[in-house]
Amino acid sequence: MEEYFIVSKGDFILSKDMKTIYRLLKKRFGFLNWWPGDSDFEILVGAILTQQTSWKNVEKAVANLKDAHMLDISKISECDIDYLQQLVHPAGFYRQKAIRLKEICSAIIKDYDGFENFLSLDAKNLRESLLSMKGIGRETADSIILYASGKPVFVVDAYTRRILGRVYRQEEAYRNIGYDELQKEIESGIKKDLGLYKDFHAQMVQLGKDYCLKKPLCTNCPLNGICLYSIHNNGVHPSK
Ligand code: SF4
Repeated sequence: MEEYFIVSKGDFILSKDMKTIYRLLKKRFGFLNWWPGDSDFEILVGAILTQQTSWKNVEKAVANLKDAHMLDISKISECDIDYLQQLVHPAGFYRQKAIRLKEICSAIIKDYDGFENFLSLDAKNLRESLLSMKGIGRETADSIILYASGKPVFVVDAYTRRILGRVYRQEEAYRNIGYDELQKEIESGIKKDLGLYKDFHAQMVQLGKDYCLKKPLCTNCPLNGICLYSIHNNGVHPSK
């Protein structure tokens, strides 16, 4: 694992701590096989639909698209909008999400002549293109780049901010730091490795869902020995 982490000190992250965090998480959760989806296109659709809703609801919407044989970029781009809204209804904000999904599919077909060409862009151009589309923010764009196009970018989500903010006991700083700045800081400490970036993100999500909730469950959290929040609030001492 040593070779994956770069020893350098930034304003927010010490790479040795990122290495420790990853080691502890992986020891607890094992290797996590993410992101759910049978195809790259399904990953893109899931990343768009998952905004402001739970994954369970996304699964229902994706199942509807599959059952209707509509999980296809050309079919969605040509689909009647009322029908598409009906299919993605379980994902919430269905009117807006259906419109966005259709627009994004149409733009990819028009500008890149297909999904494969689009995904073959380098990470920088792919990100620029995704961010130029309505309804795609940085986290969604990076999830698509990482999981659908298979290029290593670190996905910064709310769990990452919350967990690192608590581990370093700088919650306000981690809430307010800009997305790109935090991503750069994290990436400066971890070598660009696709498998590692995918698994690290998955580990953070797992921790955020199981332990580092709004009201954290520190007693059994795998990070409680190094987390300053826990040490300060629960008197748990750092592990050797
Ligand atoms: S020890 Fe508590 S605050 Fe720290 S990461 Fe774990 S759950 Fe969150």
